[in-house]
Amino acid sequence: MGLGSLFKRKKDKKEEAVESHIDINTSDCEGSECEKCVMACPNNVLTKNGEDTVARNPFACKHCRVCEAICPNDCIVVN
Ligand code: SF4
Ligand code: SF4
Repeated sequence: MGLGSLFKRKKDKKEEAVESHIDINTSDCEGSECEKCVMACPNNVLTKNGEDTVARNPFACKHCRVCEAICPNDCIVVN
């Protein structure tokens, strides 16, 4: 495998990540009682949907992982 393929693989991985999603463990999420991730996301990706927190626009996610870091219950995983 040449160096070019390595770079290509990395690039492909990044492109996949852009199209991937944000997993929120709703059983651990405090939803509207918390909303820390909703307020912290710089790209307005997350929102409240009733009592749940959901990713309304995952394609706007820039994978900064601020939401993962700020969640007190470790219920967000950004892929
Ligand atoms: S990783 Fe960053 S941009 Fe994506 S949802 Fe979390 S806070 Fe928002
Ligand atoms: S920060 Fe965590 S617990 Fe709070 S609303 Fe977001 S996902 Fe739920």
